[in-house]
Amino acid sequence: MADRAEDAILSRGIQSMLGNLCLFQIMELLPRKPVTATGPSLVRIDAEQCGTAPVELSLQNGKCVIGSSRGKSRKIRSQTPLAAIICRPGNGADDYSWFLIPRWCLLTVNGVRPLGLAALDAGAILACGHWRWLVTSQWAPSPRPVPEALAKRECPVCGGELGLAPIVRCQCGRYYHLENPRDRDNPALLNCYLSGPCGLCGAEPSLESKLFPEPDEKLLSPFT
Ligand SMILES: [Zn+2]
Ligand SMILES: [Zn+2]
Repeated sequence: MADRAEDAILSRGIQSMLGNLCLFQIMELLPRKPVTATGPSLVRIDAEQCGTAPVELSLQNGKCVIGSSRGKSRKIRSQTPLAAIICRPGNGADDYSWFLIPRWCLLTVNGVRPLGLAALDAGAILACGHWRWLVTSQWAPSPRPVPEALAKRECPVCGGELGLAPIVRCQCGRYYHLENPRDRDNPALLNCYLSGPCGLCGAEPSLESKLFPEPDEKLLSPFT
């Protein structure tokens, strides 16, 4: 029965995310203690890491870390198992669906205690005790070869087939040619991505990596 419920969740075709899942630590609810000035921390899990087994996450000194103390030496028993993360390829070339198996009964996803398995969508909030994390992805505008499934699609800027040059995926999911960002002024190159804001999401072209969705400032310092 539980297996069937899990299959149903896994095959739902949840909102896709990129090939990595990041947990960005946000507000810490410790009203009686001063908030420690260690700054936000980020845990990144790549789809390949989830290839054979779920990636275990633990809580250690108030930080989410990759790894589990289950069955390990006493030395790392200060870790509390938090959750295991599963990744499944989605429909598109770069789409992945992410899921969580709770390992701690206090863990919630968007305020709800997951039973056996919960889908993790971009922008969800994980919470456990005093701690909160935003579910996000790290996006980097690096050109890459065109997967076969995309080769015949049109570039939204030049109208040519995407297969003509390396491509980049905007944070919103739209693909553009990006032949060589280091030679951006060369008119002979198909650097369509750099020609202006994305026609779909309006994002300015950027060669910096960033989080998508980006954590809102209000989530970082709720007491100011
Ligand atoms: Zn183009
Ligand atoms: Zn876009």
